[in-house]
Order: sequence, then structure tokens, then C-alpha cells
Amino acid sequence: MIVEPSIEKTRSIIDSWKKGGETVGLVPTMGYFHEGHLALMTQSGSTADRTVVSLFVNPTQFGPNEDLDVYPRDFEGDCSKARETGVDLIFCPESGTMYGDGHRTSVTVSELTEGLCGADRPVHFTGVATIVAKLFNIIGPDYAFFGEKDFQQLAVITQLVHDLNFNISIVGVPIVREPDGLAMSSRNAYLDQVERSEAIILYRALCSVRNEVISKGGTRDSAALLKMGRVLIENSPVCAIDYLSIVDEQTLMPQRKVAGKCRIAGAIKVNGRIRLIDNVALYK
Ligand code: AMP
Repeated sequence: MIVEPSIEKTRSIIDSWKKGGETVGLVPTMGYFHEGHLALMTQSGSTADRTVVSLFVNPTQFGPNEDLDVYPRDFEGDCSKARETGVDLIFCPESGTMYGDGHRTSVTVSELTEGLCGADRPVHFTGVATIVAKLFNIIGPDYAFFGEKDFQQLAVITQLVHDLNFNISIVGVPIVREPDGLAMSSRNAYLDQVERSEAIILYRALCSVRNEVISKGGTRDSAALLKMGRVLIENSPVCAIDYLSIVDEQTLMPQRKVAGKCRIAGAIKVNGRIRLIDNVALYK
């Protein structure tokens, strides 16, 4: 596996692969790999001839009071996990390489970025769209893999690829969970033992709504369903709801009734400091 911080060298390695007729898959990440990241890499490995993983903690997608400075990092551990998963190249640029003096361009996807996580994190998706557009131009992948855990991000990137005419297939990968159902996340590393056991309440609330809609064939009224989910989370002494919403999977618009391809998505703050997100589909 090649570990390469330079844009020029990365480009020339990828050029040589492409000249040999090979296809390239890209997995953009911020590191601290868990099974969720590795699932994206595995899927890329079975789809494309070569897999490139970008490892870059992107400062522009963090707000001023967010966790950029303490974001968990383990470069050596990440390299060995990626190597074992069959990754061909890790692109790991310095911040100055990506945003050197005079960087003045940003990419904003409208509407899709206004609700859900965008409401609480106003600069987040412009940071994400900008870095992903830059990575697409540096790597020039045939495929790019994104987790459904960040399903608003997946919708934003799908729109960006359409609007800016990138010739890249975007592949969504299902959420990988801990045995008890907690969605894997690099931020789970912040949770102490009590917080970890309480954090599962978000997934439980989402599942109880899914169960009501799908298994019980109960109400499809979003207000009633959201109330059911909220009550569960509000019982937790340490978890506070940031948002809980039932939205159309593609437009991300809130839905009054569950019909077609809807998802329930939520974000909680654990002890006011650790923000966790999750979502489940409300269809089979
Ligand atoms: P991050 O390093 O947190 O920016 O995540 C990099 C990629 O991994 C994103 O496309 C995430 O959606 C995806 N990802 C993170 N956690 C999971 C998970 N539990 N299951 C599937 N994909 C995930």
C-alpha cells in the first residue's frame, strides 16, 4: 500500500493505473478507522480495480465551537487497517496542501443542506462539498463510496456530482453497527462507559418508530411517530435531542405522513458535548 501526502505524486500514480485500463474507487475519510470505514473500502475493492482512501481531517467542515482540535487520530493504526483491507493508496495531505495561501473557492449545495444537520452546523456541508469536489478533481475516481450513516451527506454529494457534471458513480454503503445496534462512529471514542450505554437510545427510538410503521402497520402520521421517538430519548438523563425528523430520502423534505421512501433521522448530544447521528429507513 502506498502512503502519499503529495497531490502531484498521487496524480501520477493514478494516471499510470488509468493508462493501464484500471478503474479507481475513492473512499473519502477523516481517519480513526472502524468497521464502517472498512466496509466502504471493501466495497470499493470489489467494485473497482484500485482503491484510494483519502485521510484528511478537513478543517472547513467544523464550526468554530466543534471538535476539530480533539478529533481522534491514529495514523499508524489506520494505515495497518487499510493495508489489511486491500487498499492500494492512502492520500493523506497536509492542511496547507489542500488549503494553501489564497484558497478562495467554496462549493455550496443549496436546499439539501439547510435542514437536519445543516440547521445546527451551518458551515458543515459547504466544507464537505468543497473538500469532496477537490478530492474528485485530484483523484479522478470512477466510483466514490459514502456511508448511509451520513445520509444527508450522501444526498448532498449525489446532487453535487449531478450539478457539476462529475463523471463519477456515487455508491451508498449501509450503516455498520455495534452488536447492540449503535452506529459505528469515530466520535464514539469520546463516550465514557455510562454515556456509551445511554447513547443507544437514539437507535432504539428510531427502531421503535420503524417497528410501529412496518411490523405493527400502525400510524403513519409523522407527528405521532416523532412524539413516540422523542419520549424515549427524553427519558435519558444524559441524551438531548438535537433533531428528530421524518424526511423523504431524496429531497430531505420533512413529510407529514410516511409514504414512499422515507427515513427517520436524528441527532442527539450526549452530556451536551458529543454529537451523534443515526437514521433508519421507514420502508422494507
Ligand atoms: P468520516 O471519517 O467520519 O468522515 O467517515 C468517512 C465515511 O465513512 C463517510 O462516508 C461515512 O458516512 C462513512 N461511515 C462512517 N461511519 C459509518 C458506519 N457506521 N457505517 C457505514 N459507513 C460509515
